[in-house]
Amino acid sequence: MTRSFFRTLTLPLLAAGALLLSFPALAQRAQHAHVHGKVELGIAVDGPSVTIEMESPLDNLLGFERAPRTDVEKNAVEQMVARLRAADHLFQIDPAAGCKLGPVQLESAALGLGKAEPDKDGHAELEATFAFNCTNAAKARFVDTQLFEAFPATRQIEAEIAAPDGQFKRSLKRPASGSARIGWGK
Ligand SMILES: [Zn+2]
Repeated sequence: MTRSFFRTLTLPLLAAGALLLSFPALAQRAQHAHVHGKVELGIAVDGPSVTIEMESPLDNLLGFERAPRTDVEKNAVEQMVARLRAADHLFQIDPAAGCKLGPVQLESAALGLGKAEPDKDGHAELEATFAFNCTNAAKARFVDTQLFEAFPATRQIEAEIAAPDGQFKRSLKRPASGSARIGWGK
């Protein structure tokens, strides 16, 4: 992958700039080839919102990294998109923050989603932005994620969190079952 993780974001410029400053390591790492099984998340707790950026090889989500060719593959893409759009099932934010799912943006050149530039290395990714609007975002101390259950090829999640009380990195391995908790702060 040659492009910046954040270039395809359609957030307002200021917000995109703030996220880029929040996750310099994520943006930098994303310029290298992706690793199958690994999902990268950037979680930003900012003002009234919690925004989750996700970058995943398509292989994790679909088992292939190109446009769908058969009805079975087309169906798999539709199911994946539906799962990602229902992001409040994939990500449960600490109830103390009182969050509701807002806009979801999906970008994948190989699947014709969004305006992402095509990958040139034979691999393909999906980048997603899940915005949650919260009554008290600053109270969020964890996100429970069902990514491992929803997408069984996912083995590892690398998360970077930018919250009012600091920046954190978390590395999660696939649990035996159930959801996985990404926690931070006091
Ligand atoms: Zn790949």
